[in-house]
Amino acid sequence: MAHDLCDNAIEGLKQLLSEKSDLEAVAYTKIKQLTLDLEADSAKEVIPIEKIKNGFTHFKTEKYDKNPDLFGELSKGQSPKFMVFSCSDSRVCPSHILDFQPGEAFMVRNIASMVPPYDKTKYSGVGAAIEYAVLHLKVEYILVIGHSCCGGIKGLMSIPDDGTTSSDFIEDWVKICSTAKSKVQAEFKDLNFAEQCTKCEMEAVNVSLGNLLSYPFVKAAVMNKTLSLKGGYYDFVKCSFDTWSLDYGVSPSLTVK
Ligand SMILES: [Zn+2]
Repeated sequence: MAHDLCDNAIEGLKQLLSEKSDLEAVAYTKIKQLTLDLEADSAKEVIPIEKIKNGFTHFKTEKYDKNPDLFGELSKGQSPKFMVFSCSDSRVCPSHILDFQPGEAFMVRNIASMVPPYDKTKYSGVGAAIEYAVLHLKVEYILVIGHSCCGGIKGLMSIPDDGTTSSDFIEDWVKICSTAKSKVQAEFKDLNFAEQCTKCEMEAVNVSLGNLLSYPFVKAAVMNKTLSLKGGYYDFVKCSFDTWSLDYGVSPSLTVK
């Protein structure tokens, strides 16, 4: 729709320019510039299928074709050291913000980057990914990343106490970290809603780290010291990344700004 409107405007201006040859020079120049600006904006509009084709061509020529050793190895198998949980939010892709290359991180992305507790009757997609990562790939680290301005956490913090629900899936999913919400509301009563959401974004990571220990194979690997659980927080407003270990709670052990 926007594309059609833009094209119509360009055509209209072109016609005006051709018909009104006696336009004063200043008006003519302004209309000419406006026409050029509209044409430039129109050219920038991305057609989705072109974006996909161009994106893959870029990957193939710039990464795949230039790294035959890496992609040759990866064609035989994968042995990532990291399993990463990240939010589905389009701004927080771990491959971009942490520069993970193909083969380096086994990933699960979902609303608010949550790890549900072990339950064979629910959340089997997440359970299968954790089982595969820990028992078959034998990852050495599981990193759970929270982030600033998380819509999922805002949704959790906004669920009314009276039990009414307004979504088919989202509220039930984010309630996985209800204990983080309760903790933040009890400990940070004086903060405003936005500040409480920020606290909950970090606290929810700790709930997920705790939930990971409810998976028997995760707990066994942690006890054997073949697996470490890490929390992470990406603030895309300040552009900082904090990490911490389960033992240290919310105190960051590493801050990169
Ligand atoms: Zn999010």
